[in-house]
Amino acid sequence: MSWASKLVTPYRVEEGEKFRLKDFDPGDTGHLHSKLQAQKLLEQGIASMAELQSKLYAQDRWGVLLIFQAMDAAGKDGAIKHVMSGVNPQGCQVYSFKVPSSEELDHDFLWRTNIRLPERGRIGIFNRSYYEEVLVVRVHPEVLKGERIPPSLVTKDIWKERFEDIKAFEHYLARNGIAIRKFFLNLSKKEQKRRFLARLDDPQKNWKFSAADIHERASWDAYMGAYQEMIVHTATKKAPWYVVPSDNKWFTRVVVAAAIVETLESLELAYPEVSPQKRKELKAARKLL
Ligand code: AMP
Ligand code: MG
Repeated sequence: MSWASKLVTPYRVEEGEKFRLKDFDPGDTGHLHSKLQAQKLLEQGIASMAELQSKLYAQDRWGVLLIFQAMDAAGKDGAIKHVMSGVNPQGCQVYSFKVPSSEELDHDFLWRTNIRLPERGRIGIFNRSYYEEVLVVRVHPEVLKGERIPPSLVTKDIWKERFEDIKAFEHYLARNGIAIRKFFLNLSKKEQKRRFLARLDDPQKNWKFSAADIHERASWDAYMGAYQEMIVHTATKKAPWYVVPSDNKWFTRVVVAAAIVETLESLELAYPEVSPQKRKELKAARKLL
């Protein structure tokens, strides 16, 4: 088993049925003892990722979709920034999904993410995703009302139906060569408070603070229930969730990097073979130089 797989195995959920969020400690740091040790592994991970990404791009067969979901201040943006720092921006596509626009609300809920899916050969990153449709939309019933779905279709089964649709959609993508990995950055309520206070105290962090964040924090328990249900119903072998301990940013980042390395390694990427015809062309080109 590679170092990457060894590090992430405890956090990978491929079968949701028995998943319980309370079994996962946000403060866990695995077998790592120090920030420095994590830093070294992160560097190693980033280097492997760069090499594998280059093959992914050259081979142009697989696409990779990485989905990030979390409570505010869990470190999604920082994880994306640090972990992807070594990859070629040309092979990477990042999208952040905000409150849907009126155009987006005029479509089915998968529409806006659908048109942002990564091409073959690319790594696509979703900072939030269609999973908001079973998170914020579930926690706030008025948001669901705003979706203008015909009332006869909005029943008590709507969440179960959405889980089914998401699962089917992800299997469809997997069968088309899009490898999907999903990250839930698992932050404790206590650590969120500490980070919010830091945002209030430090003028350079003030911009990160939004009054809406406090409002969402008040629904903490409802969110945890929604996250648990989401993972129970949508963790599959083809599209696993990683429940990433997120009270220590240095650990979050190394786990995310390792999960991406593990994923790319599983795709058996290689530079395309040069055909005899192409070899001839290369030989001829050399003569012309
Ligand atoms: P941020 O990522 O902090 O800029 O905030 C984006 C906001 O958009 C969050 O409060 C999300 O809950 C919200 N959001 C994202 N997707 C949806 C959705 N499908 N429906 C309603 N709100 C959403
Ligand atoms: Mg925010």
